[in-house]
Amino acid sequence: MTQSTVSYPANLPIMHEVARQIYPVSALYVLATPIGNVGDITLRALHALSMMDAVACEDTRNTAHLLTRYGLSKNLIAAHQHNEREVADKLIARLQAGERIALVSDAGTPAVSDPGARIVDAVLAAGLRVIPLPGASAAVTALSAAGLVNDRFYFVGFLPAKARQRDTALSHLRAVAATMMFYEAPHRIVETVDALATMFEPTRQIVFARELTKLFEEIHRCSLAQAAAWLAADANRQKGEFVILLEGAAAAAESDELEAERILAILLAECPVKQAAALAAQITGKKKNALYERALQMKRQ
Ligand code: SAM
Repeated sequence: MTQSTVSYPANLPIMHEVARQIYPVSALYVLATPIGNVGDITLRALHALSMMDAVACEDTRNTAHLLTRYGLSKNLIAAHQHNEREVADKLIARLQAGERIALVSDAGTPAVSDPGARIVDAVLAAGLRVIPLPGASAAVTALSAAGLVNDRFYFVGFLPAKARQRDTALSHLRAVAATMMFYEAPHRIVETVDALATMFEPTRQIVFARELTKLFEEIHRCSLAQAAAWLAADANRQKGEFVILLEGAAAAAESDELEAERILAILLAECPVKQAAALAAQITGKKKNALYERALQMKRQ
């Protein structure tokens, strides 16, 4: 095994460059933390953290543990979904007194399916600066390794827990052409995949991005028709944290077309055009006339 020769970040010459950036006082630093692997934090985030007067965090125990692992200890302020408005006032008073305060969530980027947006809104409304310190986010991490070719994406986050609301939300997504990104908890993954399979075409591609950056990371891509069987084949596949990506409508229509052509080509090699079109229509559910026209073109090519 190759040994890492990287020295501790504080000793890296590049840290001088990181430190040269201005870190103004009276500013809120929205700081992304790792989504699994503790190494996935930026050098700049570590440097900025070392300068903070306080860290506003979702869970003070989690954040204390994380900071300890980087050799840091900070004054922590609980800022979770139930107290965002009240805590915003306290943070604003401290920022107005000239402090630097970081805002973090338990994992990933604050305000992405996590608390933070209300605090940022209030701090901006008070005329104070908000400085983002970018880093990990599960959705973008999943997208980067999914191989779904589409320039657009649509972040859905968590679907409603109740079946009826969930299905209504999904029905509004059927025409979305962008790649859709869902967050899901392990106890709902099977049910959610069943709901997706009911609502969307079986030929759409789905990507399971499970336990990203962790020991048992797994990224699996298959058609929606195969998704439930893949999940059921191994109980471990239903454990951990999930991002689900679903191919958008336009891309799905395109892969539907390609699949119909593939079927037509096989049939055309064995039967006359009319029969090939009729059989392809039965298999794909597409219109016989359109398949007949396409089969004629394919014959001529
Ligand atoms: N703010 C976070 C972000 O930037 O990604 C998201 C927080 S949200 C409360 C937690 C959800 O994100 C999990 O239920 C899961 O859907 C997804 N998630 C977080 N970490 C993950 C990981 N390591 N692998 C896969 N999904 C993850």
